[in-house]
Amino acid sequence: MRGLVIKSTGSWYTVKTEEGKTIDCKIKGNFRLKGIRSTNPVAVGDHVVITPNQEGTAFITEIEDRRNYIIRKSPNLSKQSHILAANIDQAFLIVTTNYPETSTTFIDRFLASAEAYRIPVTLVFNKHDLLDEDELRYQHAVMHLYESLDYQCVEIQASAETESEYSVEKVKPLLAGKVTLLSGNSGVGKSTIINALLPHANLRTAEISDAHNTGMHTTTFSEMLELPMGGYLIDTPGIKGFGTFDIEREELTSYFREIFKFSKDCRFSNCTHTHEPGCAVRKAVEDHYIAESRYNSYLSMLEDKDENKYREAF
Ligand code: GDP
Ligand code: ZN
Repeated sequence: MRGLVIKSTGSWYTVKTEEGKTIDCKIKGNFRLKGIRSTNPVAVGDHVVITPNQEGTAFITEIEDRRNYIIRKSPNLSKQSHILAANIDQAFLIVTTNYPETSTTFIDRFLASAEAYRIPVTLVFNKHDLLDEDELRYQHAVMHLYESLDYQCVEIQASAETESEYSVEKVKPLLAGKVTLLSGNSGVGKSTIINALLPHANLRTAEISDAHNTGMHTTTFSEMLELPMGGYLIDTPGIKGFGTFDIEREELTSYFREIFKFSKDCRFSNCTHTHEPGCAVRKAVEDHYIAESRYNSYLSMLEDKDENKYREAF
């Protein structure tokens, strides 16, 4: 029987079979996964083969190759990683222009790490109702910047009634049939969005955030929430972005779409766009073809890289 892992407690896995049944499963045998040394062999989002047993549970006996996965390095065992989720179709980064303010640096770091994982991101600007005229004007300028880089942007008010043009109804078509990772700083409205999309998830979300706040379960527990319109939300405590990724200085350029485009005209192919003569990127910043906020985010990530702070960057 084949199925999808929708919940993991570390020792038990809930698998949704192709027939639509959910079965509690344990792992049978040792899985050796190519290229990763992880503390957990199976993660939510994994497609698996299961063999039912007499107790009404089942054993996971096979894992299909992952399209992608996000990991977190175990703090104590630097060579070991923990797989947070696999086979993600897209990420929704929930941001707020105010109450609280999400910095463009935070957005750019998330987008850069998503580029590294080749996961498409939609920027969801929440709390539309709280913004005054100036704040709205600023928000629209920020949206315009990211739309010009081909990132999809939507404005919502998660707390709005369904009739409102800014209610979560707006994002439902974007979620249908896909596995979506929900991310964003604390307080931006993630739980409110989940509750509006899944009216029955109320209690569960509260439980998860409690567990998260007390630091419990954060390394072992994760689950996917099934959406009424098809598809799943990945709501894993502690995911602020994508896990550590070891990137080379030159690679960073390719994770900033517009910087990458202009870098092809830099005099040196290994240009870091900081001090080199003939740098087309710095010229483009001066000429306002590249937004200063984006360039500054690039520089801050480059600095982190130099100081080897990457491990904790996300
Ligand atoms: P989380 O930390 O990302 O899960 O954020 P929550 O969903 O807990 O939301 C934080 C606070 O913002 C709560 O008091 C919500 O009621 C409030 N909130 C969420 N979305 C909106 C919105 O669209 N408008 C307003 N005015 N408040 C919101
Ligand atoms: Zn350059």
